[in-house]
Amino acid sequence: MQIESNSVVTLHYTLKDNEGNVIDQSDDGSFLYLHGAMNIIPGLENALTGKSAGEEISVSVSPEEGYGVKDPERVQEVPKEMFESSDDIAVGTQFHAQSPDGGAVVVTVTEVKEDVVVIDGNHALAGIDLNFDVKVIDVRAASEEEIAHGHVHGPHGHQH
Ligand code: ZN
Repeated sequence: MQIESNSVVTLHYTLKDNEGNVIDQSDDGSFLYLHGAMNIIPGLENALTGKSAGEEISVSVSPEEGYGVKDPERVQEVPKEMFESSDDIAVGTQFHAQSPDGGAVVVTVTEVKEDVVVIDGNHALAGIDLNFDVKVIDVRAASEEEIAHGHVHGPHGHQH
């Protein structure tokens, strides 16, 4: 069957940046998602529509169709005394914070100055071109329960 809305798709993928560095890949060829439920980034989901098991595609996804462009307003300087123990603050430290719309965001420390810490609330892959090599391993219809939940159940999926 071909991939369409409410297909459960099993993929093997490798994700590289424009320099060919591997950013991410499926460990064992068992990455599953529910097509049409925004489980994966739009650029990749759109490219997979209509594909069948056994097909291999390479797709380049722009930031707009991926994790978004870098938003300069999400880069902020905060006073060091806001951190309980500023000794623990180093470049690359990540912590959870609340976004202006109330959601949870992962914030990364990008610079530590004398009195302030520069934090970046952009997704780590924001602003990056994403180059996927994808092989479709399996396509099946989702169960009614999976469609209602908006995600895949079973091994390698949600188990609850
Ligand atoms: Zn569920």
